[in-house]
Amino acid sequence: MKKVLVLGGGASGLGVAWKLAEKKVPVEVIELKNEIGGLAATVRKDGYYLDYGPHYFLSERPEIIKKVTELFKEDFGKEMPTLKRDAKLLFRGKFLNYPLNIKNIIFEIPLTESFLIVSSYFCRQLLESVKKLLKKEAPEKNFEIWARKNFGDYLFKIFFKPYTEQFWGIPCDKLAPRTLPTNTRLSFFKALKLLFHMKITKKNLSLAERETTLILRYPFKGIGMVLGAIAHKIKKLGGKIHMGYEVKKIKKNPDGSFTVTAAKGGKSKDFKTDFLVSTIPLTLAVNMLDPQAPEDVIKSTKKIGFLSFIALYIVVPNRNILSSSYLYFVGRPYNRISEMRKFSPYLCPKDENMVAVEISCHDSEKIWNYTKEQVLDLCIKFLEKDGIVKRGEIKKTFLLKARYAYPIYYHDHEEHLDGIFDYLKTIPNFEVTGRVGKYLYVDIDQCLTNSFNLVDEIMPKLKKAGK
Ligand SMILES: Cc1cc2nc3c(=O)[nH]c(=O)nc-3n(C[C@H](O)[C@H](O)[C@H](O)COP(=O)(O)OP(=O)(O)OC[C@H]3O[C@@H](n4cnc5c(N)ncnc54)[C@H](O)[C@@H]3O)c2cc1C
Repeated sequence: MKKVLVLGGGASGLGVAWKLAEKKVPVEVIELKNEIGGLAATVRKDGYYLDYGPHYFLSERPEIIKKVTELFKEDFGKEMPTLKRDAKLLFRGKFLNYPLNIKNIIFEIPLTESFLIVSSYFCRQLLESVKKLLKKEAPEKNFEIWARKNFGDYLFKIFFKPYTEQFWGIPCDKLAPRTLPTNTRLSFFKALKLLFHMKITKKNLSLAERETTLILRYPFKGIGMVLGAIAHKIKKLGGKIHMGYEVKKIKKNPDGSFTVTAAKGGKSKDFKTDFLVSTIPLTLAVNMLDPQAPEDVIKSTKKIGFLSFIALYIVVPNRNILSSSYLYFVGRPYNRISEMRKFSPYLCPKDENMVAVEISCHDSEKIWNYTKEQVLDLCIKFLEKDGIVKRGEIKKTFLLKARYAYPIYYHDHEEHLDGIFDYLKTIPNFEVTGRVGKYLYVDIDQCLTNSFNLVDEIMPKLKKAGK
């Protein structure tokens, strides 16, 4: 049996290693950080448990829910708690239920506004039908065209454009239709369907459908407990996890094996392997290959990229802070604020509560290098105005950053990805998977599903003896 080395110890890397270890394949994982779980890690600081923005576990696949919840119970002796679903969106000074649905649009915003939204939607539908008839349909080549077509021009102008551009920091016509600022990729009629609780039978649900119809689960001390349980299981089954190692180079050897060079505390170590699965950011992995990838492939890695993420945790005396677990914002430096006690009461001391203030940015922006004090200074005026926290009551703050958080679906990203993947396919014994590893906007359960499927696919190759 070939030995497998997995780069990255997030949900995808651990998913691959878990399944391989179950199949008795020798497996080792290399992870950069000192806590396991990547974006789904929970960082422990002074007795506080901090996610990269609260992460709940959800899935439409019963087999994944069963596998994860059974493992959780096996590791912690308790069921993973479920969570009440309640989110709101600040829109034109009013908190609307979220995701935005047709009921909000019609009943909770001023009549003139809802009239404009609905009439503009139907005008747009009429226009599109005429274009179709005349065979002059514009291809949905960017997010702006797609959103105008699906939601009408008025809703695009007052909601989708400002929200999307605030989140991504990129004009809507430079983003692909599949861009999802959060859960808004929802057609008018799907919204209607959700509103009237019609059963969704499709296998693949949209993000909005996933969030509005599936059971949410949240572990007592943060989502990292789930990833921690998977890591324990991998080790129990004989797999190894090397923490704190930064992969620097991926050398393809003439015999089809690989030598991966990783650094820890200024020292380099070589890991030899017959088969390699990378879940580290795609752009990094491709640029680490030795011999180097062709020039056009390297160029393509510069044309795609990741949006970064900052979470500012603000600790205050224990009180009820928000009217729902989380609030989404347009027109603020932050996109989402969550009240952590509503996720679990065990994330901070009994007499305290905390909010997670989530900000998306590009790593080329000044804010990426801000200290927690600077981030607080940027946000506090709005936090006070929105009645969330007052500066005087703040007991502590913490800051978490993730450089590679959201793959950016630029309008032309698919052609660059195709070139990269076509090249990677030519490398034997090498696979990529995961949110950052394969440039896919997916959740934890989807990462696990993709990883399990990948293992099933590669098993015949691993069984072939030799190097
Ligand atoms: C703000 C936010 C909220 C989210 N909320 C939810 C939610 O509620 N529910 C949900 O299911 N999903 C949620 N997600 C998505 C979820 O976090 C991801 O789908 C999942 O964690 C991705 O796992 P991954 O292993 O593919 O990638 P990652 O978690 O990014 O793993 C990649 C790993 O590679 C490591 N790495 C990088 N470079 C190197 C290197 N050079 N050497 C060694 N290791 C390296 C990283 O440290 C990391 O551990 C959210 C994501 C974000 C950003």
